[in-house]
Amino acid sequence: MTPDETYRWLVGDVQSFPVHVLASTLALALAEAEAEHRPVNETAGYDGAPKMLLQWFPHAVKKLSGGGALVRDEDELCLVDLLLRGANTGSEMERLLAGMIARRAQRPNHLWQDLGLRNRGELSKLMDDYFAPLARRNTSDMKWKKFFSRLICRDASYTLCTAPSCGECSDYDNCFNEESGESLLAHLRKSAEHAA
Ligand code: SF4
Repeated sequence: MTPDETYRWLVGDVQSFPVHVLASTLALALAEAEAEHRPVNETAGYDGAPKMLLQWFPHAVKKLSGGGALVRDEDELCLVDLLLRGANTGSEMERLLAGMIARRAQRPNHLWQDLGLRNRGELSKLMDDYFAPLARRNTSDMKWKKFFSRLICRDASYTLCTAPSCGECSDYDNCFNEESGESLLAHLRKSAEHAA
């Protein structure tokens, strides 16, 4: 199955934003797990097989189970912590998402792309729906990964910023420019169609 087909298989007839988000990330993570010969929980960013995932996707229990506890490096743990401190209620869904977002943020593309989402707007909605206290702090609409890094740097009392304010900084474009690009699920679908 291509990641796009996996997404449709996971979602089935369900029309719900949380299911769309989880299925998008899982479809990408399943493809990477297969290509990299790793358990899917490592590429997706969850420990074991969370009850909530199995409830949303009962038909995919076998595919989503099997991994053990994750090892996360310090940067990733800081991001999990930041997300949880800025979560709406600390619900099971928010804890699951925090772990998945932190793991996917270690990949090289825009965060919305590495979550398998269709555009940046979906990531912003995800942040508003589950991490509103944190999302509200992104008042300048910084790129999400940059925004997280900046807060983590501040929390740790050191900073990667090379200027006292963003307006005077030569890295401005790097932090604030558009987060545009193609969805990775669409990109992989087109690659599979070309290869066929
Ligand atoms: S624009 Fe410069 S000062 Fe502002 S967050 Fe980015 S690196 Fe830091």
